[in-house]
This record gives sequence, C-alpha cells and structure tokens, in this order.
Amino acid sequence: MLNVHSYETFATQDWPGIRLVIFLQWCLFRCKYCQNPDTIPSVDAKKMSPEDVLTLALKQKEYFGEKWGITFSGGEPLLQAAALLPTLKLLQENGFNTCIDTNGYLLTDEVKACLRYTDYVLPDIKQLNPEKHQQLTGLDNQHPLDFVRYLDSQQKMYRIRYVVVPWITDEEEDIKQLGAFLQTLPHFQRIELLPYHRLGRSKRDKMGWEYPLEGVHASTITELDKVKKILTTYVDKVFIRG
Ligand code: SF4
Repeated sequence: MLNVHSYETFATQDWPGIRLVIFLQWCLFRCKYCQNPDTIPSVDAKKMSPEDVLTLALKQKEYFGEKWGITFSGGEPLLQAAALLPTLKLLQENGFNTCIDTNGYLLTDEVKACLRYTDYVLPDIKQLNPEKHQQLTGLDNQHPLDFVRYLDSQQKMYRIRYVVVPWITDEEEDIKQLGAFLQTLPHFQRIELLPYHRLGRSKRDKMGWEYPLEGVHASTITELDKVKKILTTYVDKVFIRG
C-alpha cells in the first residue's frame, strides 16, 4: 500500500502536460526551503493500493483524454519503492505515462526496477558544494549526483530541477560547479531553475517547526537570470520556471 499525503488533479508543472500528482508521505531530507514540510515526517497517512491509484487515474482520464499521466512526488516517493513498483507497472499496463519527482538519494535494486516503469524523471539537485548541501538538506550530495549519472547512463527522459535560493544556492562558484557537472552528462536534456519562495513558512509554523530561512527573501527574476546566464556558458537548455 502506498502511504499518500494528498493528490492534485490539474497539475501542469510536473511534466508532461496536465497531470495527476500523487504526493507520498515521508522524506529523508530536511531541506530548509521545503514547500511541503508536512510530507516529511514518517507518519501514517491515506493508504492507497495500486488499484486505488488506477481507479483515480481512470476517473481523471474522462476529463483529460489520452495525452496526460501520473506523477509521484512527495515527500520522497522512492522511499516507498516496494509499493510504488506494482503501481507504476499497473499504470503503464493501462496506457498511462508515469513520472517521478525525486531527490535522488536512493538507488537500490528496487528503485532501479521502479525506474524501468517510469517514463519521465524529475531529479532535484540541491547544491553542488558538498558542505553546503549537507547544511541545506541534512544529507550528502554524492547519492543524488550518482542518481543523475545513472539516469543519464540509462538514457532516461529526465529534467533536472534546481531551486535558486538567494545566498544559499546562487553563489557564482556553486553555479559554475553545477555547470561543470552538467557538462559531464552525455545525455543531458535540460535544467529548470525554480524560484525560492516562502510558501513552506506557514506550514512549518502550524507544525511548530522553526523556519530556518528567516530573513532570506524570495528569489527575484534578476537573481534567476544571473544563475541562468552563468549556466548557459556551460550548457544549452537552461529554463526558468515560474
Ligand atoms: S527533498 Fe523535497 S520533500 Fe524532501 S525535504 Fe527536500 S524539498 Fe522537502
């Protein structure tokens, strides 16, 4: 059974087209800018079987026709790889395209099996600098970078996401390291720069969690453009997402 935090039926940002996005509960990261901190704790949420997910997807199909699919996000969906695997298989068998939005920390055999039934992957890169990554997320960045290398080696369809946080992830040196990393990926497709905003603040307040980015402003288009300009000296296909 999947442990599901919630789902969204008209999502347009989670590739490709209009999506049913299923947010799974539990994450091993503690990103300071997390917009969905309520998905982080490992607590019991709504239980859904693969058949429940298929039924939900089939209901949406009436509205969206053939060209759409299902994205699993979170939280970290691959923490639930055992339950995700039969769900992904069932969805593909029924003609749906599947996508996983992940921090890329896990690359077990079960995760690799999930990826075989995943059409699109949205891996996050949080920070190239290992110490800053540790400070930002609580964990190392070696696993997420290996995950992206693995996707690339398998020639999966993937788009990297990177949140631009003023002073935290937009230092010129860090962006240059990111660009150099992207250049090592023979099948690199695109990177999307996401603005940092403070939407997670009120959720953290409700949870009684301190907001660790107090005093950090939402990223401006000028800051995003600056990061884009540096990255485009390394790779093409750098996009800013609203
Ligand atoms: S990986 Fe995603 S869900 Fe997990 S803490 Fe970071 S932003 Fe939140």
